[in-house]
Amino acid sequence: CGIVGILGDIEAAPRIIDSLKRLEYRGYDSAGVATLVEGKIVRRRAEGKLRNLENSLENAPLSGTSGIGHTRWATHGAPTVSNAHPHQAGAVSVVHNGIIENYLDLRDEIVAAGAILDTETDTEVVAHLINIAMAEGMSPKEAVAHVLPRLKGAFALALLFEGEENLLIGARKGSPLAVGHGEGEMFLGSDAIALSPFTDRITYLEEGDWAVVTRSGAEIFDQDNNKVIRPESRSSVTS
Ligand code: GLU
Repeated sequence: CGIVGILGDIEAAPRIIDSLKRLEYRGYDSAGVATLVEGKIVRRRAEGKLRNLENSLENAPLSGTSGIGHTRWATHGAPTVSNAHPHQAGAVSVVHNGIIENYLDLRDEIVAAGAILDTETDTEVVAHLINIAMAEGMSPKEAVAHVLPRLKGAFALALLFEGEENLLIGARKGSPLAVGHGEGEMFLGSDAIALSPFTDRITYLEEGDWAVVTRSGAEIFDQDNNKVIRPESRSSVTS
């Protein structure tokens, strides 16, 4: 239900929790975070309140300055730890708001290709499709461009890639997503409130847009993969 992504210069996990707390107002039943630790995706997820996720992080802290986080409002699959986002398939981890309407067809295709599904969610297919495309030799950006047109329904997505300390990819169709601009840091978030602990400089993605984000900025593409410029605005939400 809420999304945050960080390419920062200090540890990401505590900042992700701070941002997710500001997204609690949207409602949620579980939550999770993934960061890159020495290039590997590492996750912590918990049912229920953010306090449970914080406890899990206190017991087993996550280092890493690049990461994604999520508060989930379950639509497909019970609100369990294994259905909590981020979801992972091989080299990619994803958080998602919304519903992938054609996920059953996509699941069949992925299973036929030999993948093993380990959640009941509609979201997991996104990670698998991108992972399969990357295993076929596509770059993360090429894989996302290849997979997005296949997803029906409503989504905001944030993606983290193994070994890519300076890359997040976000996409929006039917669910809002914004890019936040820092000083040598960049962010993704569901809204200006999610980004308020980090920056008030916001670029809202438009319908169908997707964004390749690095610490030096964001390249935004429309749904036909044309590079586009979207305005940056100053949020009046203060942290
Ligand atoms: N449909 C996804 C799920 O049930 C995402 C729900 C959300 O927006 O939090 O896991």
